[in-house]
Amino acid sequence: MSKPDVLIMGGGLTGLLIAYLLQREGVPSTILEARSRLGGRIHTMRPAHEAPLEMGATWLGKKHHHVLNLLDDLDIEIVKQYMGTKGFYEPMSVTPPQLVDLPPADEPSYRIAGGTESIITTLAAHLDESRIQLNQPVKAILKTGTGLEIQTDTDCFTSDIVVSTLPPKLLVETIQWSPSLPNELMEIASKTHTWMAESIKVALTFEKPFWRSSESSGTIFSNVGPVTELYDHSGNNRYALKGFMNSAYQTVPPERRKQLVLEQLHRFYGHKADSFLSYRECVWAHEPFTFTPYQPPVVPHQNNGHPVFRQPYLDRRFLIAGSETASEFPGYMDGAVESANHALSQIIDLISG
Ligand SMILES: Cc1cc2nc3c(=O)[nH]c(=O)nc-3n(C[C@H](O)[C@H](O)[C@H](O)COP(=O)(O)OP(=O)(O)OC[C@H]3O[C@@H](n4cnc5c(N)ncnc54)[C@H](O)[C@@H]3O)c2cc1C
Repeated sequence: MSKPDVLIMGGGLTGLLIAYLLQREGVPSTILEARSRLGGRIHTMRPAHEAPLEMGATWLGKKHHHVLNLLDDLDIEIVKQYMGTKGFYEPMSVTPPQLVDLPPADEPSYRIAGGTESIITTLAAHLDESRIQLNQPVKAILKTGTGLEIQTDTDCFTSDIVVSTLPPKLLVETIQWSPSLPNELMEIASKTHTWMAESIKVALTFEKPFWRSSESSGTIFSNVGPVTELYDHSGNNRYALKGFMNSAYQTVPPERRKQLVLEQLHRFYGHKADSFLSYRECVWAHEPFTFTPYQPPVVPHQNNGHPVFRQPYLDRRFLIAGSETASEFPGYMDGAVESANHALSQIIDLISG
């Protein structure tokens, strides 16, 4: 096959990286992204003149060598997560929070300087804008005599090779197939956990980091909630706290959630908590291009990295990538990068074979 046209479903880290790697090889590709933004589960909110807030992927470690190599290649720096030496622990609702010593971290966590979205914007900046189509949810894929036909709400594309970067569960539950994909793949994909897709992220920006004192901390672990974990999310002299809310609160109205978070923060910071500049949250279970409900439930990381995702389908014209398909650290940004590297080698094999 010479000069194939590659179509990439999804413009998250995996999809953008595949397009970037293909471009380096001189192979043209087009990305169809369902949302009105790129990044998928990487989503940095940027209130004006305040700290950037990660609603999705945030941390990486030195063991995540695939993503570290990519950051090096893109000239993007990492910064150590500020933890301080003390943290609040809220064991139960009938006792006040306690300030406890934090054990030294065996493996420090790092964040991406300027916000995780820097990876997305940097990759996108290397690509031809006209080859990235937003608001294009793929609805159906049909095998034709010469290739694959990809249908969205408004358009129909044909391509020699299609690569999906959708979470596997969405791939088999939200796309119509003709012919059907093999039963084994359908079965496993529908029971593949999409990492962090049930999470609720919550973040508040502040003028001053009042929690950085010997009597306080920006680190909170709570069994009471609604926020279960909170961390200092400051950078470049802009200050914020960010963490996770118990996912059971996804059914609570947004205004009530916010009120409950503030009531909880009063227990740690008193009325200083009210001095926030912005409050942001993201309920990922309400994002249809990330999450669909499980029936029956699955356990975290279930079927992540399953070998069924690593082989081509539909006469070797259809490939499956995305973080959950990775052989190392599936579910994480590192897995997304590994899966993009794997997809590239599969495409090169197809072209040259
Ligand atoms: C709250 C949260 C916190 C996280 N924290 C961390 C962390 O700290 N560290 C870490 O390493 N990882 C973390 N992750 C995981 C990390 O975000 C993912 O591993 C990574 O971003 C996955 O990238 P991806 O491109 O494989 O998938 P996605 O980002 O899910 O991209 C898939 C893309 O496909 C699009 N799409 C869906 N359906 C269609 C369709 N029908 N047609 C076209 N496009 C479609 C989606 O809109 C999306 O853009 C977190 C995730 C979440 C949600």
